[in-house]
Amino acid sequence: MVVSGLLPYDDNNIFAKILRAEIPCNKIYEDEYALAFHDIRPQAPVHVLVIPKGKFVSFADFGANAAADLVFGFNRAVALVAKNLGLEETGYRLITNMGWDSHQEVPHYHVHILGGRKLGVMLAPIDA
Ligand code: 5GP
Repeated sequence: MVVSGLLPYDDNNIFAKILRAEIPCNKIYEDEYALAFHDIRPQAPVHVLVIPKGKFVSFADFGANAAADLVFGFNRAVALVAKNLGLEETGYRLITNMGWDSHQEVPHYHVHILGGRKLGVMLAPIDA
């Protein structure tokens, strides 16, 4: 399912179920603001997802509606997870998909942390 970030929050999305511990995940970090776990279909040697503890569909929803302490705490958690994964020296890429054109699949805001190899250019040039 590819979703729009403008849809209402769906309590039955897969990450909501992971947050409620109704389905398992390979957890690597948790605090009061965020949960981080390995992506089930990794696209790099390190592919971790970080999700906020709150009902936000997308970056747009989170940025507009999350409390300031949650925005701060979540961003801190993303950086800390990347550091704990040992990616600060070699570098990493953060991706968040929002809505139709991005091919966002899961309608709970999340940040992908990708690293562990040279990731190449960000996207193919538009004239490729
Ligand atoms: P999106 O396309 O929404 O930005 O990314 C969703 C990501 O969630 C995909 O990379 C996909 O592999 C991952 N994913 C989907 N379902 C599950 C799941 O049940 N567990 C985990 N750990 N990752 C999932």
